[in-house]
Amino acid sequence: MRKISILGATGSIGQSTIDLIARAPDAYDVVALTGGRNIAQLATDAIALQADLAVTAFEDELPALRQALGGSSVEAAAGQKALIEAATRPADWVMSSIVGVAGLAPGLKALEQGACLALANKESLVCAGKLLLQTAKTHNARLLPVDSEHSAVFQALVGEEISAVERIIITASGGAFRDWPVEDLKGASLAQASSHPNWDMGQRITIDSASMFNKALEVIETREYFGVDPSQIEVLVHPESLVHALVGFRDGGLMAHLGAPDMRHAIGYALHWPERRDLPVERLDLAAIGQLNFRKPDLLRYPALEQAQQVMQRGGLMGAVFNAAKERALDHFIAGRIRFTDMAEITARVLDQIESQSGLIDSAMTLDNVTQIDHMARRAADAVTAHNIG
Ligand code: NAD
Ligand code: MG
Repeated sequence: MRKISILGATGSIGQSTIDLIARAPDAYDVVALTGGRNIAQLATDAIALQADLAVTAFEDELPALRQALGGSSVEAAAGQKALIEAATRPADWVMSSIVGVAGLAPGLKALEQGACLALANKESLVCAGKLLLQTAKTHNARLLPVDSEHSAVFQALVGEEISAVERIIITASGGAFRDWPVEDLKGASLAQASSHPNWDMGQRITIDSASMFNKALEVIETREYFGVDPSQIEVLVHPESLVHALVGFRDGGLMAHLGAPDMRHAIGYALHWPERRDLPVERLDLAAIGQLNFRKPDLLRYPALEQAQQVMQRGGLMGAVFNAAKERALDHFIAGRIRFTDMAEITARVLDQIESQSGLIDSAMTLDNVTQIDHMARRAADAVTAHNIG
């Protein structure tokens, strides 16, 4: 039986992962499940999957978790240390599906114990790509992409040399506001930004799709994971979300990956890799679909895409600055303190400020330095927000 842990089990990706493993309970021995404040879900899944350990990230939730697990053999724990402990317990395959930079430290721990890490948590690659890849190498561990675009590229590269790649095109649905007049974006509400035309995902990534901060992170993720030059990465708006990515080779050939917009494909591919097994996803009927559309993204509508270029050109720890500023700006938008379009204003200002002021950007990529610059960028984002509001 394969030993499996899911970090961020109660979220959208975590639940899709559980959906797949629950279909073959005899194949998997569940070690640890982690979650946040959705204690009922965490406890229900931990009991049903007979996990050894259930962890909530929040210490004040421990009594509730203990109570919900009452009578079962599942061990309960809470807080940051417990999260690290969950990631450290030996497992063959670990799903990294915590949202945000909070997924970085547990992901590194899972790699240190030699696990195959299925990485949905793109933020950790954006903040500390080299550190993750180096940690995987040192511990003979494997990092597999779960983001649909990156899974698609990974699949298109089977049997190919990366040196034969001319360009990588990742697609974007365009999010909730792709057809809005740009001048209306200022007035976009939280509810409007939280609904996605094609994918059913967690709230944060859904809003990031509307602003294309998600695609900006994914461009950086592409560079980090596949090691290509920023000039080789393109983004295409593809409203149908059926072609997830295309890889262009030096002979002019273009390999596209198509599939229904269902994350269980990318999760299942990472789960069964290097094999392909049956997955419960819809099969595309291209004749019924009839037509696929593509267009260039409008940079006025999606300023985050240009910021990704700035981040990649600067290098060093700029990815961590960008991600932290984005996470704080998103917190402020969700809390109703700023407008939708203020998010990109905040990240732009934080990038410029920290780029010109902080030598920390060029320091070694260690977890400590990433954490330090993450905190600095969050404080800067808060200061910019306070100034804007005041
Ligand atoms: P979600 O909000 O639905 O779930 C997030 C999970 O992380 C939950 O289990 C939550 O309890 C946990 N969590 C939140 N804050 C935490 C913290 N501070 N410490 C520890 N745990 C915490 O998010 P999601 O949509 O499942 O996305 C998860 C990750 O996968 C993100 O990095 C996202 O960008 C990526 N991703 C998601 C999708 C998708 O379809 N949902 C697609 C591609 C990539
Ligand atoms: Mg994606």
